[in-house]
Amino acid sequence: MSSRASLKANLQLFVTRRCQLRCRYCPILKGDSLMPLATALKGADLLLGHQSGRVRLDFGGGEPLMNFEVVREASAYAARRAKALGKDLGFYMVTNAVLLDDAVLEWAAKRGVLLEFSMDGAREDHNRYKSAYDRGLDPYAATRAGVERALRAGSPHFVIVVASPSNVRRLAENFEHLYEIGVRRFDLSYAIGGVWSADEEKSFFSQVELVLTRHARELDCGAVQLGNARQRLEPTVLNSELMVDPDGSLHQMSEWMFETTPPTGEAPFHVGTLDTVKDINSLRWSRFHSYYTLVRLYDGRPDVRAALLNNISFGLRVGRFFRASGARLGKVPA
Ligand code: SF4
Repeated sequence: MSSRASLKANLQLFVTRRCQLRCRYCPILKGDSLMPLATALKGADLLLGHQSGRVRLDFGGGEPLMNFEVVREASAYAARRAKALGKDLGFYMVTNAVLLDDAVLEWAAKRGVLLEFSMDGAREDHNRYKSAYDRGLDPYAATRAGVERALRAGSPHFVIVVASPSNVRRLAENFEHLYEIGVRRFDLSYAIGGVWSADEEKSFFSQVELVLTRHARELDCGAVQLGNARQRLEPTVLNSELMVDPDGSLHQMSEWMFETTPPTGEAPFHVGTLDTVKDINSLRWSRFHSYYTLVRLYDGRPDVRAALLNNISFGLRVGRFFRASGARLGKVPA
């Protein structure tokens, strides 16, 4: 494998495939599986074997708060082990905030967890793209309540706003809506899995420009923060981060980028499981592996191939755009 392949310093535990929502752009197959605590602890051990002194344990899914006890226990165990090993351990969790209560915020404060909330803007757009699976749930109201709770508690967080081709022209408006409810740390993103036309891409950039212009002074002094320049690696469709499924199998994130579309082939690289992989330092993956994985998984699906190539080229342009805008992005979340 290439000497430029990256060594993993983070690991994401997919603690469940359950979710109360069915976001239109979510590629993850939902199911009932919950990661057992023993699997989460093995995942923490694998990560803590990394040669780097700084590692990060990530919690995702599905909705990780639907398996919060495992998240809490695994983080306590990992913190104890990291201390004994003299490692600097961080935590990160991506959540829809529907179940975010004071107990979660207390845990996040105690463990220094960076929270990523997914909220797409005003009620109409949020509920249209992030529809409820659980009966009676108002996704906008539930997520907004969780985000507001985190704002009141001063929990380190940022809000990821995902624009889709059909609502990208309201991205700046949706940003302002979140700004009005008090959000100051953002990540502006785009839906993957479908083809963006040249006009839609153009709208994405002009909408982001609008945000950068309107909030130039606040971005400059750090009162508003966009994490795009630092924390988003583009193109996101080729995300080669290492994930653990609830059953303990290890995967590159890119394997799941089109997961709700049945694949036509086998994934070419089998990472193994938490029982077979003993040394995280032996794993090396690059964007090439991610690309080749997706090409092989969807051989014979021209629609997926078209979306993949489109999302790669759009993502590269998004990455260039934010790098070029770096000076205007101000301070980014720690
Ligand atoms: S909240 Fe997250 S996991 Fe659930 S459907 Fe939406 S994007 Fe997928």
